[in-house]
Order: sequence, then C-alpha cells, then structure tokens
Amino acid sequence: MEPQQRSPLLEVRGNIELKKPLIKAPSRLPLPGTRFKRGPDQMEDALEPEKKRTRGLDTVTKIATSQSRAPAITARTQTQNQITAPKVPKKTGPRCSTAIAMVLKNQKSGPAVPAQKPGAAPPMVGGRKPTKRPAWDLKGQLCDLNAELKCCRERTQTLAQENQQLQDQLREAQQQAKARGAECRTLEGELARVQAQAEQGQQELGSLRARVLELEEQQCTQEGLLRELQKEQLGLQEERRGLAARLEEQERRLQASEAALSGSQAEVASLRQEATGQAALLVEQGERLHGLEMERRRLHNQLQELKGNIRVFCRVRPVLPGEPTPPPSFLLFPSGPGGPADPPTRLSVSRCDERRGTLSGAPAPATRHDFSFDRVFPPGSRQDEVFEEIAMLVQSALDGYPVCIFAYGQTGSGKTFTMEGGPGRDPQVEGLIPRALRHLFSVAQELGGQGWTYSFVASYVEIYNETVRDLLATGPRKGQGGECEIRRAGPGSEELTVTNARYVPVSCEKEVEALLHLAHQNRAVARTSQNERSSRSHSVFQLQISGEHTGRGLQCGASLNLVDLAGSERLDPSLALGPGERDRLRETQAINSSLSTLGLVIMALSNKESHIPYRNSKLTYLLQNSLGGSAKMLMFVNISPLEENVSESLNSLRFASKVNQCVIGTAQANRK
Ligand code: ADP
Ligand code: MG
Repeated sequence: MEPQQRSPLLEVRGNIELKKPLIKAPSRLPLPGTRFKRGPDQMEDALEPEKKRTRGLDTVTKIATSQSRAPAITARTQTQNQITAPKVPKKTGPRCSTAIAMVLKNQKSGPAVPAQKPGAAPPMVGGRKPTKRPAWDLKGQLCDLNAELKCCRERTQTLAQENQQLQDQLREAQQQAKARGAECRTLEGELARVQAQAEQGQQELGSLRARVLELEEQQCTQEGLLRELQKEQLGLQEERRGLAARLEEQERRLQASEAALSGSQAEVASLRQEATGQAALLVEQGERLHGLEMERRRLHNQLQELKGNIRVFCRVRPVLPGEPTPPPSFLLFPSGPGGPADPPTRLSVSRCDERRGTLSGAPAPATRHDFSFDRVFPPGSRQDEVFEEIAMLVQSALDGYPVCIFAYGQTGSGKTFTMEGGPGRDPQVEGLIPRALRHLFSVAQELGGQGWTYSFVASYVEIYNETVRDLLATGPRKGQGGECEIRRAGPGSEELTVTNARYVPVSCEKEVEALLHLAHQNRAVARTSQNERSSRSHSVFQLQISGEHTGRGLQCGASLNLVDLAGSERLDPSLALGPGERDRLRETQAINSSLSTLGLVIMALSNKESHIPYRNSKLTYLLQNSLGGSAKMLMFVNISPLEENVSESLNSLRFASKVNQCVIGTAQANRK
C-alpha cells in the first residue's frame, strides 16, 4: 500500500496518541482547578490571593523593620503566638503556613536593629511616619502594639477569608478532580474500547495486508494472464486477418465457381440433350455391334474351318543339358513357300538305318523323312509364340464350339512342358493351360461389355490303365485312386460327367494356379520309384464354359479340353519279361490301345463313318462331345531332338500326319 493512503484506522491511532497527554492531564492540574472554568486572562485573578498574601507579608516585614529590634521581636512573637495561634485553623493550606513561617523567619533572621530610646518618635504605622518611642514610653508602646495587634487581626481576618476562599477552591478542585476522575474512567473505558478497536483494526489490518498480498499475487497472475491473452489476442487477430483473406479468396473462387457452374449447367443441359441422342445412337450401335459380333463369330469359325477342324502342330523340344548333341542334319526345318519369313510348317528327319547296310559294307546313306503340319515349332520356340497360334482356337470355346487340344509324343518329348509349363513359377515357361484360361477370362470380361456373362467350371482327371482318378481330390481322397466313373449327366442327356470328381468354379488366374498346384501334388503322391505314372497316364483338364446374353436371351456352352497324353513309346519286344515288365507291358498295351482308339475315332469322324468307336477307351469316351461334329481339335506332336529317339519320333510324326490328313465336317456352334 502506498504510504500516503493511510488507513482510517491509522488515523484513529494517531489521534489516540495525541490525546494521551489529555488523559494524564488531571494529575498535572493545579489544585485550584480554575483552569478549565476560566479563561487564560482569568488565570491572573486566580493567582491574585498569593500576590495579596505576598503583599501582606511584605507589609508585615515593613512593619517589623520599623520597630525596635529585640523587644519588637519578642513582643511580636509573643503577641503573634497569643493572638494568631487560636485563630489560625489547623488545616491551613501549606501556602498559608509557609507565609506565616516566612514572616517568622524574616523576623528572626532580620538584621539587628538598635534599640529605640523612650520618647523617640514612634514608628510609622498605617502610612503615618513612625515615631521612635522611648523605653519608658510604655503607653506609646502599648498603643503601638495595639495598633500592630489590630493590624495583625485584620491580617488574620484577611488570611481567614483567604483560607476560606482557598478551601472553597480546594473543594471545587476536588469536585473537579472527581469529575476528572469520572471523565478519566470514561476516557479509559473509551481508550480500552478504542484499543480493542485498534487491536481488531490491527487484526483486520493484518488480514487486509494478507488479502492485499493475495490480491497483489492475483494481480500479478492476472497481469501475466492478461499479457498472455493480449499475445493470444494478437495471434488471433493475425489469424483472423489470414482467415478473412482466405474467406475473400474463397468467396472470389466461389463466385468464379458459381459462374462456372451456371456455364456448366447450361453445358449439362446441352450435354443431356446430346446424351439422349447418344443413347439412341448407342442402342443403334449396340445393335450393330451385336450384329458384328455374330458376324465375327461366324467369320472366326469359317477361318478355323479353313484352317481345319483338326489341326496338327509339331513341336521339337531343345536339347537339354547333358544330352548328346544330334548331328546338324538330323532335324531340318525347311522354309515355307514364302521363304524364311513364313512360319515353318515342315520338318525333315534324317535316319541312318543300320539294318540297311550296303553290299560294300559302307554305312547306308541317311533316309530323309519329310513331314508337313499346320505349324512346326523348332527347338528355340517360346511358350508365348506357341500360345499365340492357339489363342484364336481357344476363343472358339467362348463362341460355343467345343475345343480339344492334345499333346502327343513319347515320354520326355515335352508334352507336360507344353501343356502345364516348365518347372518353377517363371511366367516365361507358363504352359498352355494357364495361358488359355487367362485369355478366356480376359475375353469374357471384354464380352461382358456387350452383355455377355460367362462362368467357368474346371475339372482335372487322370486316366491310368483305363481307370479315372480325380487330380483335384482333397482331404482323405487326396492321392487315392478314387471311385471315379464317366456317366451321362442325366437320362437322355448328351452331357458327360465324372462321378466323385471335383468340378471347381474358377474366375481368375490365381484359382487356376491353385488347381494346377493341387493336381501336381496329387500326381506326386501317386508316383513310385519304378514307375513314372504321370507319363503312363492321360491327364485331362476340362473347362466347362457357359455364356449368356440376358438382354437377347442367348446362351452358349462348350468345353475346352487340354489333354496331356501318356507317353506314346512302344515297349521294346527284345526286353525279357520280368514281373515288373509284365505290369509295364499291361500299362503300355492300355496306353497304346487308347492312343490308337483316339486315332481311329478321329479317322472315323473324318470318314464320316456311322459308328465312331468312342467307347473303346475311357479317353475317347470322356472326350466324345468335344471330338465330333462342331468340335475343333488341335494336336501337338512333341518330338525329342535326340538322334537316339528317332524311331519314336518317326512313329509320333506318322501318327500325327495321319491325324493331320483327317478333315472333320463343318463345325456347328452349340447354341441354345
Ligand atoms: P513329357 O511330358 O513329354 O514326358 P516333359 O514335358 O516332362 O516331357 O519334358 C521333359 C524334359 O524336357 C523336362 O525337363 C522339360 O522341362 C524339358 N523340356 C521339354 N520341352 C521343353 C522346351 N520346349 N524347352 C525347354 N525344356 C523343355
Ligand atoms: Mg509328361
């Protein structure tokens, strides 16, 4: 607190301190006590009796000095003692007794006066010239003494009066003292009250000071807060300015957008009109497109027919690491009529027949065997090049034509490589099955834009020794032979189905990949060390395709069959027949029988015979709906590049050539 802002309480305290002398004043008051009742000018009068007393004494002194020394003193003392003693009251004030004592003192200590002779002029009494009386003038002396006595009486009277007065004053003073005492008590009570108040005030002051400190602290806090708020306010103001600027910008943009919107709305209106026109055009175009699609299918089919409903491709695998390199002239790929730019269609195999030796003993000259196919793939051909050639054929399956693709050849000639692909997950060596399915899925999606919806169901079975096994079996049936039979889907139905085999709907590559992996696992379980069963059995991957155009009420359905045939090699008749070989012979007979049945079926179809021997083997029986009539067939004849396999290669090439000569009548799409 500021020193100049003195609290009222402090002022009260100051006043109390100032008044203290007033409280003590009664003890200092002169006894006469006229001070409070009279003014300062009257104080003179209050002192008057003393003055008078002093004057009185002076007078006595003067009288005493005017008398003869020794007798006067003695007489006076005696007279005084005789006269004043009874008249002076015992309770004469100290001042009165003091005055008398002084008179006596003066008389005692006064200088010795020489004795007056009788007859001398008596001393001046009462203003008269004192005359000295002779010693013998006793009368005169008596007279003087009477006069002095009279004077003393007067004086005594005066003193008595004065005494009376003083007593009155004393009483008055006592009364005043009493009053002062009462006043003093009142003031003391008041003082106590004021002190109590002061204490209370002190306490209040203490609490007020504490409060002041608290408030000061609060003030400091508030000031800090205020500063922060001010800072914040500045920041907010800045932000507000930024926001205002942004708002302005946004408003400007909004205006621009509104302008653009109104422009756009006009544009939309015109575009709507245009869209209506376009929709009509679209319907028209849709019609046209559908007509064109139908035309495409027809032309596509015509093209396939022109290429032949049965086509044969020859594929020669490369020499594998560790295999003997054949002589360069062993396999030749002569160019087509269009020169080297034309894709090769011919294959020439040179064979030295040791049995046909010359008479001179020199080795017989090599015999050339020429073959011609729809397409020949030399050893360096890639998987994608091969697929490119069959892509159009695969698409026929979507158009509703059954398609069968076979891989024929001796074991180790590359059938599985062609159909399923090489080892590992290298996309470069992916086989025909995954590529064909990917192609079908993508074309089906494109046709979806024209209103076609396709669904695909896959199955994968193995025919070994004329028994059918599901390669997609899972769980406890995995790897087991299974009780699979080929049956008609229903009474009177043309459709065939394999009992106990899984038919798995597929819609993407991943699902197909998983199925191929499962089939591979199932084959591995069944494999034995003595017998590479996979090469002794036919693997048939079937894909049932169903298409529907709901808008036009059209449906189409066909199956795509991708068959990895069993090894076509013949059993060497020179081999001794042990127990293992007997089984092998039985296997081989079964394989040869089914492969020759396939050839016979194709030929019967080509010759349009009335009886087609489908039932002669499980393979032809299962594939009967995809072989005749409207079906399209493609046979890969896989050839080993090795000279040691020349005999089997020639057998395969001869079989394939026979198939290639077959022409199956005009195919009809399976439309419903
Ligand atoms: P098959 O199924 O006719 O018995 P495979 O397909 O198993 O024959 O092929 C035998 C071996 O030759 C395999 O190791 C395979 O990887 C390899 N092979 C086959 N064809 C090719 C090819 N075109 N390119 C590279 N390697 C091939
Ligand atoms: Mg194989």
